Amino acid sequence: MNIKGKKITILGAVRSGIGAAKLAKKFGAFPFVSDLSPEEKIQENVKVLRDNLIEFECGGHSKRVFDCDLIVTSPGVPTDSEVLQEAVSLNIEIISELEFASWFCKGKIIGITGTNGKTTTTSLCEYTFNKCGKNTIAAGNIGLAFSEVADSFGENDFAVVEISSFQLDFIKDFRPFVSVILNITPDHLDRYEHDVKKYAASKMKIGENQNNTDYYIFNADDKGTLELNNNSVKRYSFSIKNKVFNGAFTENSKIFFSENGKAEEIMNCGDLSIKGEHNLANALAVLAIAKIAGCKNDGIIASFKSFPGVEHRLEFVREINGIKFINDSKATNVDSVWYALRSFNEPLFLILGGKDKGNDYKQIEEEVKQRVKKIYAIGSSAEKVKNYFENIVPVEIKNSLGECVDSSLAEAQKEEVLLLSPACASFDMFKSYEDRGKQFKDYVKNI
Ligand code: ADP
Repeated sequence: MNIKGKKITILGAVRSGIGAAKLAKKFGAFPFVSDLSPEEKIQENVKVLRDNLIEFECGGHSKRVFDCDLIVTSPGVPTDSEVLQEAVSLNIEIISELEFASWFCKGKIIGITGTNGKTTTTSLCEYTFNKCGKNTIAAGNIGLAFSEVADSFGENDFAVVEISSFQLDFIKDFRPFVSVILNITPDHLDRYEHDVKKYAASKMKIGENQNNTDYYIFNADDKGTLELNNNSVKRYSFSIKNKVFNGAFTENSKIFFSENGKAEEIMNCGDLSIKGEHNLANALAVLAIAKIAGCKNDGIIASFKSFPGVEHRLEFVREINGIKFINDSKATNVDSVWYALRSFNEPLFLILGGKDKGNDYKQIEEEVKQRVKKIYAIGSSAEKVKNYFENIVPVEIKNSLGECVDSSLAEAQKEEVLLLSPACASFDMFKSYEDRGKQFKDYVKNI
């Protein structure tokens, strides 16, 4: 795609917007970045723009935004925002940063989306590919914007890109070599007019441009995934419940990979370094990707045994007086808490609550009944948590994570677990889920 001399407006001056602006400039376009936040709030990003001599405005979108050939939008800008609606009415082409970055990527793209498990799967995929001697970088939602690295891949390299549904809302030609949908459960419904079908449809876009040299991998156990509207792509799947014809599955606690119905045993499920059924499913997805890309079994097995896991996802923090402290701050929806609860045999003290995204706790009621001894409710949804669960298990409202930790030390016994798996966003009390997890870990480590 030749963008030389083109005027490109970039909406959003955070990670992906900055990456896109730098990439646009590098390839001879004239980028202009516009962000609603005042300069004081995004000082570091503004400095990068200044250092790179990129034009920008902060604190609002002026009419200058529409003086362009193309708009590249960041995932944080809502589809129904005034600025995008106006651009639509002016017939200006709008694409996401993911689409834009992909124009400059010569490597093979592995796109991973889903409601839960994206970061874990993307990281495990990068780790496995590199262990198998394939030059691979993980980017996207995962920390490093795709635009920052998109033009650095050679033809035989792999870009593993973690993709949110917001990035898929504005794709046009984006075409991964392998697309993966891990699962689709209700989340972010606030951005999809509370319509699960709309949310699912936006995720299914990941495979719509693929052709018969490409692969689409889906979770055969997941009922939320819709049928992909593309007949040419090669379909693989994964399942922790049943055999699959093409893809990865488990049987009798062993992991298999199957092609045209011929299955080969890979390893024992118990040898996987990351725990829980959900992580088994994530690993099966990676197995299917790795086999498609030609990785050898010994490299795959070695990496599955040694992968250290990802921070803030069922992360072991410390044991005090026989009580284990686990940080699962990234559990920002009910589905991930369901999996977290099922990953433990020990009785649990559960920290639940925060900024509620319309949670329905019915899904975890049974698991809570069976596994949780007590709930500590925190944040702006503490009352909602209390009202829902108080007839099922004891619930106590706490004002801070420190109070939860202190109480668990007084109330829990040896071989019990304090689990921070809040099912909510963090912004009522913390800067981010990372901040929430870090504060929890710091408090526990300082005891
Ligand atoms: P994402 O990037 O999609 O948010 P993460 O890998 O960061 O996914 O995990 C987010 C949360 O979901 C964590 O609490 C994690 O333990 C849980 N989780 C991970 N994989 C899955 C899965 N396949 N299904 C359900 N929950 C999962």
